[in-house]
Amino acid sequence: MTPRSPRGIVVRLAAGVAALSFALVGCVAADGSALAPDLPSPEPGAIRVVATTTVLADLVARVGGSLIRVTSLVPKGGEIHTFDPRPATLVAISEASLVVVNGLGLDDPLTDLVGTVGSKGPVLRLGDALPPGSILVEEGLANPHAWLNVAHARSYVAAIATALEAILPAKASQIATQAAAFDARLAELDAWTRTQLAAVPQANRKVIVLHDAFPYFAEAYGLEVIGSVISTPGQDPSAGEIADLLAAIKSSGARAIFSEAQFSDKLAHAIADEARMVVESNLYDDTLGDAPADSYEGLIRWDVDRIVAALR
Ligand SMILES: [Zn+2]
Repeated sequence: MTPRSPRGIVVRLAAGVAALSFALVGCVAADGSALAPDLPSPEPGAIRVVATTTVLADLVARVGGSLIRVTSLVPKGGEIHTFDPRPATLVAISEASLVVVNGLGLDDPLTDLVGTVGSKGPVLRLGDALPPGSILVEEGLANPHAWLNVAHARSYVAAIATALEAILPAKASQIATQAAAFDARLAELDAWTRTQLAAVPQANRKVIVLHDAFPYFAEAYGLEVIGSVISTPGQDPSAGEIADLLAAIKSSGARAIFSEAQFSDKLAHAIADEARMVVESNLYDDTLGDAPADSYEGLIRWDVDRIVAALR
């Protein structure tokens, strides 16, 4: 085997990744209405609700059912961390009887935009619904990706139900019933996820992620995130960051790299080839995908199946 200099490897990897690691691949839907086909159609008089992402929009739609017409401001396959609003975004905000945001730094520019444009109804910040002490903070910043712990998604659902009941008091019992039915599904999903992850051997639980979307998932289901390929979404890693990541992989014995379906996996493969790791390229976190990952529940089942297959 030919010895290779670590510095040469890092320079080669860094040169090969310019502008591709966080570049969107595939098509982005023209609007944010591409929610799962099993959702009920809005009934006449349904109120307009906007959510910042498709994942949050699906949670809202499960609770509101036919009483609401939900739009995601960031379209399916789009990236919340680097999203640029369009004229349609402003129209959707101005017509909304409820605006649902995640908070915790995920969607602050859009939340500020809601304040500027003005909506018909209130803003619901789902991160505020998390139990005290459950927000994960790194280097002084909250990590926003709480929904990837299904227990936290259940907290989101409870907050959505309370907000919709306040806006539609005459429909409160229907909303409560729909929320309870969905919450029961999520309780089952949480238990299923725990059972699936239990099959992963203890020695295989260290992973690298594309961006830092999985700390809540890891905490809930027993994985250890060793590092991220991209520290700042929208910016490619520097040679120094790649060198640090390779060193962390080596010292930890991390088993797999999780990349994301809406992004190029070239950088993940380059690192994995170097460090002899497994790559799972098609996880979803910030956005829904095509069926069967076109709902929150579908997204979790999709990711869990692939994570377990990569780590067994
Ligand atoms: Zn993210």
